[in-house]
Amino acid sequence: MDVSTASQTGTPAPGQLTFVAPRRAKPARHLADLTMAERRAAVAELGEKPFRADQLSRHYFERLNGDAATMTDLPAAAREKLGAALFPPLLTPVREITCDGGTTRKTLWRLFDGALVESVLMRYSDRTTMCVSSQAGCGMNCPFCATGQAGLTRNMSTAEIVEQVVAGARELAAGEVPGGPGRVSNVVFMGMGEPLANYKAVIGAVRRLVEPAPSGLGISARGVTVSTVGLVPAIGKLADEGLPVTLAVSLHAPDDELRDTLVPINTRWKVAEVLDAAWEYAARTKRRVSIEYALIKDINDQEWRADLLGRLIKNKLVHVNLIPLNPTPGSKWTASRPEDERAFVRRLEHHGVPVTVRDTRGREIDGACGQLAAAE
Ligand code: SAH
Repeated sequence: MDVSTASQTGTPAPGQLTFVAPRRAKPARHLADLTMAERRAAVAELGEKPFRADQLSRHYFERLNGDAATMTDLPAAAREKLGAALFPPLLTPVREITCDGGTTRKTLWRLFDGALVESVLMRYSDRTTMCVSSQAGCGMNCPFCATGQAGLTRNMSTAEIVEQVVAGARELAAGEVPGGPGRVSNVVFMGMGEPLANYKAVIGAVRRLVEPAPSGLGISARGVTVSTVGLVPAIGKLADEGLPVTLAVSLHAPDDELRDTLVPINTRWKVAEVLDAAWEYAARTKRRVSIEYALIKDINDQEWRADLLGRLIKNKLVHVNLIPLNPTPGSKWTASRPEDERAFVRRLEHHGVPVTVRDTRGREIDGACGQLAAAE
């Protein structure tokens, strides 16, 4: 296996993994990067009273306002200084495309250095989910995923991740999403990137999302899902954080031979190791682990594979999410035939494994799983 480091850029060779993001200038520090104590210290360093940090936090995390010029409870002279120091512009919208009558919305963002990422808002009758990116590009190179094909550009910062959720929360609060004013109830790290390969920034973002206001957005940890190709040591670390977020494992094959090609990280950590890490996570957090499985016609959708999967995961705290493969440019693969999908579901149910077929949103705007490629 070829493990490249900082020098790698551009299209990866088949199976090539990239763990270390190319070295690039870092995005500016933002309020959302900082803990409450760090915010107070940052404000004090600028010659302001520490309680200003609480005011700024209320503006940002409660009112979703990041424009210091409008913060009239701050002395006029402090507004510009604090705004420049703690609310640098991080995300510039390039375009927003919608479908499902405006309840699915994909936004393309330009970051300060020109890198492009996407986020997707999905409003359902009982919840609204933000699907966020954690890296510009991805180094995990799964051949059926559009994001993986372009390689890794760079890691995103905590605030760059949080800002995607805040942007969605603003649209909802302003009543711009059909269904009346609302709030973000769920966040899934299922946009561009491998969240556990950008561990520190992602954990920072999870903390900002779940901390109650004014420290954070106050989203329930149970509504947050971190999805991974299976970086085993990082799954263990995540369990140590004491955050009851849902873990999703992108398995896609129950056997090493096939998974080595579909999810190249499998050449480093095998199916059995990934599943062991998942069971350990479930045991420690008491959270049901989600197994993601994209059904690819005649590749991984045979009944015997459903049987093998069922045997591997039966009687565990687990749930299987089958995702009909979404089309990606240049891929020869397509979604399974409906009858094969039904048979796959039946085999898993036969083993007593809870299974759902994901009602994929956003396919017609290239906003569905594996379709985020962020081209202008
Ligand atoms: N890197 C993380 C986060 C991305 S989540 C991970 O892989 O888990 C995106 C989910 O969509 C993953 O489960 C991924 O395997 C799946 N996916 C990728 N390409 C897809 C496609 N073309 N059709 C359906 N699902 C896809």
